[in-house]
Amino acid sequence: MIIMKKDATAEEIKNVIGEVKKHGLRADVSRGEFRTVIGLVGDESKISFAHLAALPGVKEARMVETPYKLISREYSELFEGKDESRIVKVGDIKIGGDEPVFIAGPCAIESKRQLFRIAQEIKAAGAHILRGGIFKPRSSVHSFQGLGSLGDEEAREALSWLREAGQRFGMPVMTEVRGETQADLIAEYVDILQIGARNMYHQDMLSKVARMGKPVLFKRHFGASIEEFLSFSEYIVAEGNKDVILCERGIVPIGRGESYTRYTLDLAAVPVVQRETYLPIVVDPSHAAGRRDLIFDMSCAAIAVGATGLLIEVHYDPAEALVDAQQMITPDELKEVIATCKRISQVVAPDRKRVRVA
Ligand code: PEP
Ligand code: MN
Repeated sequence: MIIMKKDATAEEIKNVIGEVKKHGLRADVSRGEFRTVIGLVGDESKISFAHLAALPGVKEARMVETPYKLISREYSELFEGKDESRIVKVGDIKIGGDEPVFIAGPCAIESKRQLFRIAQEIKAAGAHILRGGIFKPRSSVHSFQGLGSLGDEEAREALSWLREAGQRFGMPVMTEVRGETQADLIAEYVDILQIGARNMYHQDMLSKVARMGKPVLFKRHFGASIEEFLSFSEYIVAEGNKDVILCERGIVPIGRGESYTRYTLDLAAVPVVQRETYLPIVVDPSHAAGRRDLIFDMSCAAIAVGATGLLIEVHYDPAEALVDAQQMITPDELKEVIATCKRISQVVAPDRKRVRVA
């Protein structure tokens, strides 16, 4: 990290950036109110910090050890001189602001009729963003992989339904990019690109999706530590895209015998992540619990610990759903979840700042 002097000239800043690039690194330039700070992206051992510190206009140059400095709250404070959480704006929706945001929809889009009915009903229930899977990650090659896997034409058709449903019912839309080659196509149609748990470690894909220039919902892998989760989200931000919404969706349960839940929802990850980074974090209780009867309770708990929103799978007739039927709730149940979560947020949020021990 290079901290420029308060009176550093544009020419001096340009010169430092040129020096960074010459050594095969990239420069993440933050022009704060008082000074400019240049973050180094890449292998910092390739460059001499003593040399950088001696360049005209440089106040200080130091190596940063944390693997996720670009998203770190601590370094953002240094860069920008402020400790503010990022608000990701999608249309009129603000993710990371004072109001919790509810993202809902079917696990997989199965037909135009199914999608439009769910979109209409979740909107009436109070949802803000419509999500539906077109390319589904599945454990078995023999199960339904989403309409997108049927071919390019089917993928475009499903994507256009999603866009149309969003326009008709007034909600931004989101779907998962399952592979790098799908990014360009999907980015033509949707407002938010989802990266699923299984792809958290796929760094080339993260960079590619980041370069689409749209907000990215980034899920934690079920076997990843919080440090890994944050480190990999840095790949997105390193492309200059700070509109990242983190998503906790459960980690692999431990111990012998029946687990009773599909994964273990790591609720402590929410406040921990919020202390580490300025990026917003939402919770997906549907994949974490894998059980419809737990969605209300886990949603309430997630909002109580400070999640900035929820991602919930919804179907008007859960038993009919081709994918994840066991964890779908109905639009009526979603309405209850949203109403209660809003009340919880109103009670807990104002006290959190006051009570929280640093
Ligand atoms: C999904 O969101 O539909 C999904 C498959 O989730 P995850 O990537 O968390 O398993
Ligand atoms: Mn699902």
